[in-house]
Amino acid sequence: MSSTYYILCLSHDPATVEGECHTAEEAEQRIADGLETHPNCDLAISRHSGAVCEVGCHASKHRKTNLRCYHGGTLWTDADWLLLLAAAHQTTDPTVAAVAARAGHRCWPPERLQRLRLELDLPAAVPPARGPNWQD
Ligand SMILES: [Zn+2]
Ligand SMILES: [Zn+2]
Repeated sequence: MSSTYYILCLSHDPATVEGECHTAEEAEQRIADGLETHPNCDLAISRHSGAVCEVGCHASKHRKTNLRCYHGGTLWTDADWLLLLAAAHQTTDPTVAAVAARAGHRCWPPERLQRLRLELDLPAAVPPARGPNWQD
């Protein structure tokens, strides 16, 4: 099955699409080389086959921004799982919220995940759990 890969800039809210590639390796290489127009941005890769299938958080060593996750290669996350995680970040159920917070501390904390809302077709968000400076 053929896929198309897009480089996403998550420093914009919502994320913008910055390039189309035919393989994951090509997208990874372009990120490793650096995007001229997004030199200090938070980049990710989405894989589409018809609809979006997966979103990849690329290797930590090529990253220009601070994230909590560290991985040597691209870490791919299923789009359905990201949708579930986005829903879980908004729950009032403390058990689900605790699990979502733990999962979100890997590649997809709520603020970052929300930037994928156009890609994932997320329902409009209620503001996620607040940080210390939220709405100050
Ligand atoms: Zn950018
Ligand atoms: Zn990651």
